[in-house]
Amino acid sequence: MYEYAGNLHIHTPYSDGSKWHAEVAEAAIEAGLDFIIVTDHNIWVDGVEGYYENGNGRVLLLVGEEIHNVRRQPQASHFLAYGAERELSCYAADPQRLIDETHNAGGYGFLAHPHERDLPIVNEPNLGWHDWDIDGFTGLEIWNYMSCFKNRLADALNNMRFQNYLWGAITTLRMAYRPEKYIDGPEKETLALWDKLLAEGKRIAAVGNSDAHGIRMKLGPFERVIYPYEFLFRAVNTHILLPEPFNGDLAHDKSLILSAIGKGRAWVGYDMPHPTKGFRFTGQGVNKGVMGDNIQLDAGATLQIRTPAKADIRLIHQGQVVAQVENDTHLTYIPIEEGAYRVECYIPYMGKKRGWIFSNPIYLY
Ligand SMILES: [Zn+2]
Ligand SMILES: [Zn+2]
Repeated sequence: MYEYAGNLHIHTPYSDGSKWHAEVAEAAIEAGLDFIIVTDHNIWVDGVEGYYENGNGRVLLLVGEEIHNVRRQPQASHFLAYGAERELSCYAADPQRLIDETHNAGGYGFLAHPHERDLPIVNEPNLGWHDWDIDGFTGLEIWNYMSCFKNRLADALNNMRFQNYLWGAITTLRMAYRPEKYIDGPEKETLALWDKLLAEGKRIAAVGNSDAHGIRMKLGPFERVIYPYEFLFRAVNTHILLPEPFNGDLAHDKSLILSAIGKGRAWVGYDMPHPTKGFRFTGQGVNKGVMGDNIQLDAGATLQIRTPAKADIRLIHQGQVVAQVENDTHLTYIPIEEGAYRVECYIPYMGKKRGWIFSNPIYLY
């Protein structure tokens, strides 16, 4: 299999981002990404896809869309569409129709940052998913860097000893200058939801992203870009596995990427503590497979995990840890029950164990 790293949730000035496609591509090259998917709010931007190059390399830039109902009160329920090749924001008012039309157009749909908290200090409402009477979406954005930061900040502000604006502003600035100290992993509610849906027998793929805007945060006299594109492209990414390598042809390489994302042949990697390149979660028995694949469950079936650095590795089935090792690079397991098995890895970084790798499931039947 051939591995490529990408980021699938990015904004430009077509919505509320600060840098144009070519500049975003430049940042992605500097961060060492192989592909990016730009997802502006409620606009599918045509005509910018392709390989972008500079002296340090090249990156494939694709375009998706982040859709929400601008008339919804309160604002919530952001939906990421990939590969639909058409404008979909006209269906935003009806989330099920939006999901169905994305699939009808040959695309894949993910619920963006599904669990969020309000952040009144910078007038950010909870933009999690609120319209749960839906079915048939491709998957969940299980880890969104900006949303994770917002939630950790919201928790810190709620736990402040002195509940006033000044202390809130100080706390916000302190955290904004060192986000790495606070980013620790996906929301527990999102992982629990994922496990619940998988336990019901559904196939739910996962992606993890930056949600990069490169926006300026202003708080009184203080101003800071939180956070530059390149910084975020070195953080939470989605790594995909392909049956054949990129050949430099836009249509060919794009279809490989989209199919891997749709099938969940991928893992979410926090590449800042240590690169997650080289992680593998495979299954073998009568047939062989990787994340996103079905493996026949028989007496000879085994699951194997390999990490590119020592980590705490957990294998999860129906929300329960069924096997684990600490500070190791390998875990092998002989499954006896049907269903989806997924992997979580935790690694020490900046004084504590943090979420590092969250794999898509292998499905045993
Ligand atoms: Zn969003
Ligand atoms: Zn976004």
